Parts: sequence; structure tokens; C-alpha cells
Amino acid sequence: MKTQNTNKRIRLIMDLRRKGITDTNVLSAIERVPRDFFVPPQAKDQAWEDIALPIGLGQTISQPLVVAFMSQALELSDRDKVLEIGTGCGYQTAILSKLCRRVYTIERHKDLLKDAEKRFEELKLRNITAIAADGMKGWPTINGIDQAPFDKIIVTAAARKEPPQALKDQLKVGGIMIIPLGGPGEQNLMRYKKESEDTFAVKPLMQVRFVPLLPDVTDDKNDMAYSA
Ligand code: SAH
Repeated sequence: MKTQNTNKRIRLIMDLRRKGITDTNVLSAIERVPRDFFVPPQAKDQAWEDIALPIGLGQTISQPLVVAFMSQALELSDRDKVLEIGTGCGYQTAILSKLCRRVYTIERHKDLLKDAEKRFEELKLRNITAIAADGMKGWPTINGIDQAPFDKIIVTAAARKEPPQALKDQLKVGGIMIIPLGGPGEQNLMRYKKESEDTFAVKPLMQVRFVPLLPDVTDDKNDMAYSA
């Protein structure tokens, strides 16, 4: 069984290389983080295929290619402090944690956050700080301590037209933000490079489909914003 799993992992890595992922650190992180750990039992067989999978309550875990592509686009270094909005099951967070110094991640849904935190604990990923909050407002001041500005920001839910102002403000000059923009029909993954306190170089990267960014924190099981 173990060998079979290893073969599946290697096949996924080859698949991602073929599809244009060249950053060897990203490929190695994908190989090392057990994606099967983040999906429900009935989906484990497919955990190493390059497809999005349902993870219950209408939510999905992103396709590995999209996770790899976004991670690569962030141009991460092991000195980077990264802010992630939309923890979800925590898979993208776990990949980031292998590639940078520290990840600060925000999830609006308390139950999802609890499950993700359990996974980080079990996988001994110790450089992640996770909170339940509205990520559109950026990372809050906690006990008088500010973490902003961040070297990189990644948003895994779609904003309509523009990144939230708080996120633009919390990005370091010279930093990169990767964020999907657009409505349910058509979304583009965008790269915002902060060139000065109030100017950005903006570049579309690829078409994607993400669930929308929603305001406020919730613990309502019916308030699942996922339909994709
Ligand atoms: N990166 C995730 C996929 C996330 S799906 C993974 O690898 O599994 C998008 C997530 O964004 C959902 O969990 C949703 O609850 C969350 N979200 C939506 N709006 C948010 C907001 N304003 N602040 C924080 N999280 C938000």
C-alpha cells in the first residue's frame, strides 16, 4: 500500500511539472504534504490526482495545480512572513508552511478553522498561526501586537473587483499578493506587486473558480458559501 501511495505521489509531481510548475521547492512541498490527510475517507483514493475534491458541507479542496501555481506565483523565500485568507481545510496553508518562515491564516468559519488547526497539530506544522476572523479586514492587532506588513499575501476566495483595501495596506512595498477577482461566472487569478505605498503592478495569471469572499465570522453550519 505504501509503495502504491509513493507511486501516486510521484505521478502527481510529474503531472504538475508537465503542466508548467517549475519551482522545485513547491513540487517538493506538494510531495511531502499528505493531501489524503485533508480529504474525507471516501475521497482518499483520489487524493493524489490533480483534481479538486469535495470535502463535505459543500466545500472543496482546490486542485493541486492551482495550489502549486499560486504558491509558485508568490515567489516565496524561507524568510517570508505570509498572510493567507481562507484557511478552509488547511491544505494550502500546510504547503505554504513548508516554503516560508511563518504563515498567518484567517478563516471566517469557526468549525473549519478548528478542524484545520487539528491537522496542523497532528502534522507538527509549528509555524502556522490561525484565527477565526473576517480576512477582508486584514490581520488584526492581537494583545497589542501587529504582524503587518506581510511579505506576501494569498487569498483563496474571490473578491469582486479589487482586493480589499486592508490587504493592500498590509502588504510590504516590494511584496506580492495573489488573489482571484470576479463574479461566479468568470474569475481571474491576479498578481498584485506593491511598487510604492499606493501603487501596484497588476497582472492576470489564469482563469479560476473560487468561492466568494464573504464578510463576518460565523459558526452557522448552514452558512457555507461554497457551491463550486
Ligand atoms: N485554501 C483552502 C480552500 C479554501 S475555500 C484549502 O486549501 O482548502 C475558501 C475559504 O475561504 C472557505 O473556507 C471560506 O469560508 C473562506 N472565506 C471566505 N470569505 C472569507 C473571509 N472574509 N475571511 C476569511 N475566510 C473567508
